[in-house]
Amino acid sequence: MADIAKMYELQKIDLTWEKVRRRLTQIKALLVESDELRALRQQTAATEAELHRLQTQQTNAELESASLASRITATEQRLMGGQVRNPKELESLQANVDALKRQRATVDGEGVEALVKAEEVNARLGQERTTLQQVEEKWRAGQSELTEEDAKMKRAYAQLKKQRENAAAALGAEQLKRYEDLRQRKAGVAIAVIQHNMCGACHVQVPTGIASAARNPEANVALCPSCGRILYAG
Ligand SMILES: [Zn+2]
Repeated sequence: MADIAKMYELQKIDLTWEKVRRRLTQIKALLVESDELRALRQQTAATEAELHRLQTQQTNAELESASLASRITATEQRLMGGQVRNPKELESLQANVDALKRQRATVDGEGVEALVKAEEVNARLGQERTTLQQVEEKWRAGQSELTEEDAKMKRAYAQLKKQRENAAAALGAEQLKRYEDLRQRKAGVAIAVIQHNMCGACHVQVPTGIASAARNPEANVALCPSCGRILYAG
């Protein structure tokens, strides 16, 4: 006679063990940095680079403007110094001063533009850093809960492994093989509890004869005529 109760016990352990195994896989995936956090980190780094670029642009504009200013001063000194008398040469010096001044105005304009943009980008960077910090803190808090759960699940896994070994040993080799074969073919559920003459796995009404055979410990193993699982009266 097959000991369905022992098989059912083994199945309960197997189903719980499977759940624990699945959760452990999930936790492993969750314990890496979230997509949201990674995206925010990338965005903040990009904004930092943009700010740096604008600040460099502004500094370069200031340096170029200062250099143009001294060239303007030097040219104006030659123009006003009285050493140059040739009208053509004076005219050319004046044209040179005008061109340098126009160039300086353009450079100053670019510098101001970079400064204004840098201020905007800096404000945005501040917001992004705040958001990043908040999301990171939340993620870290969630991670510590997950780490705890991970440890708990690993302990449960080890316990269930031992329970499984004992429950499998309580069954004879032949019954264990029958259970394993059926379990593989029936999506992990070899034993179905019968309740009100209904199969607990496929929910089909079982003929009375089979239902009472399932309840009779002296009878042969009763199978659900619909799904083929072993019926257990509990
Ligand atoms: Zn069934």
